[in-house]
Amino acid sequence: MNYYKSIIDTIGNTPLVRLNLVNKGIKGTILVKVEYFNPGNSVKDRMAIRMVEDAERDGSLKPGGTIIEGTSGNTGMGLALTAIAKGYSCVFTMADKQSQEKIDILRAVGAEVVVCPTNVLPDDPRSYYSVAKRLNRDIPNSFYPNQYDNPSNSLAHYETTGPEIWDQTKGKITHFAAGVGTGGTMSGIGKFLKEQKSEVVTVGIDTYGSVFKKYKETGIFDEKEVFPYLTEGIGEDILPENVDFSVIDHFVKVTDKDAAIMARRLAREEGLFVGWSCGSAVHGALEYARTTLTEDDVMVIILPDHGTRYLNKIYNDTWMKDHGFLERTYATARDIVHR
Ligand code: PMP
Repeated sequence: MNYYKSIIDTIGNTPLVRLNLVNKGIKGTILVKVEYFNPGNSVKDRMAIRMVEDAERDGSLKPGGTIIEGTSGNTGMGLALTAIAKGYSCVFTMADKQSQEKIDILRAVGAEVVVCPTNVLPDDPRSYYSVAKRLNRDIPNSFYPNQYDNPSNSLAHYETTGPEIWDQTKGKITHFAAGVGTGGTMSGIGKFLKEQKSEVVTVGIDTYGSVFKKYKETGIFDEKEVFPYLTEGIGEDILPENVDFSVIDHFVKVTDKDAAIMARRLAREEGLFVGWSCGSAVHGALEYARTTLTEDDVMVIILPDHGTRYLNKIYNDTWMKDHGFLERTYATARDIVHR
């Protein structure tokens, strides 16, 4: 019989798919790695299982323990699935800007979720970082993976996602782009690819309101760069240890609006029903590609998660209109009926 021992054994080996329409007028082959095929519907399953298994090996996570993490939702899902397979409990802290769907999904798979205010400084005792640390101190037999600084995060991508991309492109990849949040995805894959072929160009996708691009270009951590933004999962107001600036050649910043519009185009024009930061990644990567790529180039872009998590935001026309994001409306059967 051909079966997996548990759902977490299905993590990884996601497909690479060519873009056909949203990249019109841009030279080269643009491929996307569709990470929603992971069982938790996101790229973060890969590092969640790796952080847990490394902690089991080094003794920081013991049988029956509680996993506590600050998450924008996707890491929580990966940890929750891993916890179910291995018999742990989960408590997650999340900033209140994250989609309600993500909170509901985590509760559906048995995790406890503590919602914390978004617009406080990282070291404020109310921030989701601080609350996670406090819970870790107060809950006995608990383990705090700390995805921002935990090297197992980047390592998961160095050992799985990077080699998959290299094999799937038969070493023909010339450009790689990914959103940067904790930095694990970009840094792990970027390091692996550059070790295979140093000419591979890496493009990190950042948001307005985040510190990464300015830090890369000037070496200055500029607090003036920080302001509230809406896109979920990328951009930071801290410098996580998992962001390895030495393997990221360029940063491109993408607005909340451009990201939302591109995510919706990916759904309608490519049949890729993906998350908001996927729109950031593709918009930013194509902006870079438009002036840079030649016919023989092969660019790979990571699409981190699935569109269901954003149904009440970017896939909701009223929400889009309320935020001034809706540029194009599509005629519907209802319009014709009421004409
Ligand atoms: N997009 C989404 C939706 C995410 O949840 C994350 C994780 N924070 C990222 C992109 C960025 O990935 P990483 O943390 O590996 O930089």
